Amino acid sequence: MSQRFFTQTSQDIVYLDANATTPVLPRIADVVSHTMKVSFGNPSSSHITGVQAKYLLEQTRSKARRVIGAQTGDILFTSGATEGIQTAIVSTLLANRHKATEHSVLLYGATEHKAVPNTLKHWNDVLGLGAKVVAIPVDENGLLDHEFIAEHVPKALMICTMAVNNETGVYQDLSALERVIRQHNASVSWMVDCVQALGKQALALSDTSIDYAPFSGHKLYAPKGIGFLYIRENSPYTPFIAGGGQESGMRSGTENLPGIAGLYELFDLLLDEASDVFKPVETLHQYRKQLINALEQTFGSITFNMPLVGSVPTTLNFCVDSLTSKEVMDLFDAAGIRVSGGSACSSGANRSFVLDAMSASDWQSENAIRMSFGPAATQAEIDLACERICALKPVLANNCLIVSDAVQPEHEVCALGLTQLRHQGSCCWLYVAPNNDAVIIDPVVELVPRIERLVAQQQLHVKAVLETHKHQDKDSARALLANRLSLNTDSDELGWPGAAVQLGEQELVRIPTPGHSADSHTYLLRQGDNVSACFCGDLLIFSGLGSTQFADANVCDMAESIRSLAPQLSDDTVICPAHDYEQCFALTWAAQVQATPLLKQLLDEQIDKERFAEQKAQLDEQLSSECGALCGFSNVVKTTAAQQLSVEQVQQMLEECEQETIVLDVREPYEHGAKDIRSLFNVGDAQLVNVPLSRLANAFFAHQLSPQKRYVLICRTGNRSGQAINNLKSLGFDKVYNLQGGLALV
Ligand code: PLP
Repeated sequence: MSQRFFTQTSQDIVYLDANATTPVLPRIADVVSHTMKVSFGNPSSSHITGVQAKYLLEQTRSKARRVIGAQTGDILFTSGATEGIQTAIVSTLLANRHKATEHSVLLYGATEHKAVPNTLKHWNDVLGLGAKVVAIPVDENGLLDHEFIAEHVPKALMICTMAVNNETGVYQDLSALERVIRQHNASVSWMVDCVQALGKQALALSDTSIDYAPFSGHKLYAPKGIGFLYIRENSPYTPFIAGGGQESGMRSGTENLPGIAGLYELFDLLLDEASDVFKPVETLHQYRKQLINALEQTFGSITFNMPLVGSVPTTLNFCVDSLTSKEVMDLFDAAGIRVSGGSACSSGANRSFVLDAMSASDWQSENAIRMSFGPAATQAEIDLACERICALKPVLANNCLIVSDAVQPEHEVCALGLTQLRHQGSCCWLYVAPNNDAVIIDPVVELVPRIERLVAQQQLHVKAVLETHKHQDKDSARALLANRLSLNTDSDELGWPGAAVQLGEQELVRIPTPGHSADSHTYLLRQGDNVSACFCGDLLIFSGLGSTQFADANVCDMAESIRSLAPQLSDDTVICPAHDYEQCFALTWAAQVQATPLLKQLLDEQIDKERFAEQKAQLDEQLSSECGALCGFSNVVKTTAAQQLSVEQVQQMLEECEQETIVLDVREPYEHGAKDIRSLFNVGDAQLVNVPLSRLANAFFAHQLSPQKRYVLICRTGNRSGQAINNLKSLGFDKVYNLQGGLALV
């Protein structure tokens, strides 16, 4: 098979994202394949091959009628639900064109799939109807507001609702909905998106006044690119695709017969009472219960974002109370469990509009995980899914992602040395000495629970929680964290206890470095004269300088501060600023000076304080016009793209220069620990190193990496490893390579 197709077998992965799409069932795939190779006729041909194709087409249509309970009306084969939605909406809007006034509304449920409101808005604009496109609110259980419908439906040209929601599995009471719609507007066109209901709920469309119902094959084990649309008798209809007159002129284009044959087999299975492929609803509930137990056992406290009564049993939408959705998704992905954050179709957006409409909290909306299986799931598949989920428990415990109930957890990962904890562009730094003495610098509110867990789990002795200055762009989490950690030492308002803080054999000292603000300070971690890390707050930004545009900033003071700081640093002092907007992760002082021309000129005395102030003012101006209120500018240059290697090339490189080459996994330890990848590259422990991006600074601090070696960087998709390569190149590493497409493509 071509390299473009991936060979990861279905046994390797646990697929729990059926609401996005499903695999094609083997017997459906067989029928599709047979139709492509043998029964390949064009239903419009008059010879026998064509007649046979036409027969299959009509048989499938008549089975569709039985499946959805539509003895009357039309069934049209489409490319999928989106085409069905277009067709229904365009037909309605064209028929109502003359009736539209400025008071007309087009109603849709607030949790509808985006295909619905976007299509309404698009055709309302294109056809110049000028109707108002209005979302029907839902309550906290996702149920449509019937009073709102009663009030607005009299002036509606169309109302669009859904039978089952794709993110939450919430189903509507269609009979109650019908009563309220018809009581207030007997003739309005009503479309019900039934995509997620097929195979999960009994349908009897002819018994209702639903005008249009779109369906999609790939949501229920048939191939992508095939769907169908139910149209009630006498409902408005205009062909959306004109041409050769197929489908009785209602939808032109040669029919997708292999896809239709797939539907035939699917319908056969749905109608066959003796078949056990599709499971009864009680079994599906049992499956869901089993998954809930596994999740609760593994993650502890979980919030479900949908009502368990009132949603189809094949969907779970939840948040792990102590973990972000990114952490959960990365962990699942690394363990070969496929789930989705919110809706697959809106991936990229980091909030769920569905949960927002249900008045869920910000945390729920931003951190929702959707786990969905199909109604043909087997007991063995659910058992395996639960086993894989439960296997994550030790990984979580060892990585401080949950508080372990083990007495002496073996720390697969420890926070010894320097850790960069990030929230958006802000960086908080944790330093832990070999004797577990620790200091936390510039904490961010959002990171407080994670830091608390780290401290408790690794039994750290936190000596101080410090800020480099009072940050203008975020609330201080210093006092909150110090309080949570019961740190009662006397300190000033930046948390400084007054004298050097002893951290194992190193000590942390503070020097005033005004400039970014009048109260700015820098903390130096040193042993004797050797400063190993410099926590500079916003005096420096990676490859740049802190801004001097806030009220108590002073550029000349900044120049003085930098000049007095520089002699205390050595070339390999690790720079730890309070922000990392450019995802730089780690720089040494030598690289910082090299990457920041203005800093270099100041230190080389090529410019005086006044000239520095002039140039800095220009940079600040540019910064505020380009980026708004950032705390500094950065000159990070994206170096030329790293050389991309296929997995075979990596294996070959490892064979040829075994001692020289290291596979550097930059994923977080919990992802690294979720699946053993040594056999993939045929490497031993010595050649596989895990340095997550959050610990790149530590790798330099601990002199763990050497520019003389060759590094092949890996992560999930090749993005994080690409960023790390950029970082390593700016630190003088030339022999760095990226695993093309990351582990996702292996
Ligand atoms: N409606 C719902 C509820 C869906 O879940 C989807 C797919 O995500 C669609 C419509 C669009 O279906 P298709 O992919 O067949 O165009």
